[in-house]
Amino acid sequence: MSRHSSSSAPKGGATRGSLAERVEEHRPTHTVEDYLMTMHVMERDYGEIVAARLAEMMGVAPATVAMTLKRMERDNWITGTGRKAVHLTETGRQAAHSVTRRHMLTEWLLLRILKVPLPQIHDEAHGIEHAISPSLEERMRAILGDPQVCPHGNPLPGYEHVVSAWVPLTEFSPNERAIIRRIHEFAEENPDLLNFLIENKLLPGVEVRILDILPFNQTVTVQVDNIPVTLGFAAARYIFAERRAP
Ligand SMILES: [Zn+2]
Ligand SMILES: [Zn+2]
Repeated sequence: MSRHSSSSAPKGGATRGSLAERVEEHRPTHTVEDYLMTMHVMERDYGEIVAARLAEMMGVAPATVAMTLKRMERDNWITGTGRKAVHLTETGRQAAHSVTRRHMLTEWLLLRILKVPLPQIHDEAHGIEHAISPSLEERMRAILGDPQVCPHGNPLPGYEHVVSAWVPLTEFSPNERAIIRRIHEFAEENPDLLNFLIENKLLPGVEVRILDILPFNQTVTVQVDNIPVTLGFAAARYIFAERRAP
């Protein structure tokens, strides 16, 4: 599963100039890397990359997105510009996986080694992730114990199966018990929401009981340490939990 040819692998032949290696040698700009990471998350979790949603996710004007997408298509990271959904090319997907891994390892580095508080690690990681070389990435991975998910519980590329049994809080029933495992990337981008979750202890590893789910009200209420906390569906669908036996 290692993406680099190991040092003992024969040089030349199929191992030299693999797509992953070529992508590392010609990395896209920081902006394009950030687009690629968001596209990877959309493709992974929603099955398609809807261009209109990118403006909202990236926090820029639709016209800016349209221009960046054109450049990305010209440079062979994506196809389908101008249509409703764009697609990653194989090169684009490799580059997206690379920056996503670097982002997630950087989040761990910031949290564990540099003791940066959880609500800040996602933003801080963006300042560092683009400068990390493949050899530095390998060192980080080793020192951090080869994590399969980021500190928010989102999977490193290739480890999607690790999170597949965790479901959004909106899909539970009253009285079920659950352990929170994952706060989706699209919630990581929202510091207010993250601070709310931290204040109310709704974080990976915490056990909750579902008190009620009210579709007419679009709310989920869970009990954490005997205290009820109510979330709207908009937030609750970004919080994934593991079912516990009753
Ligand atoms: Zn970034
Ligand atoms: Zn994260």
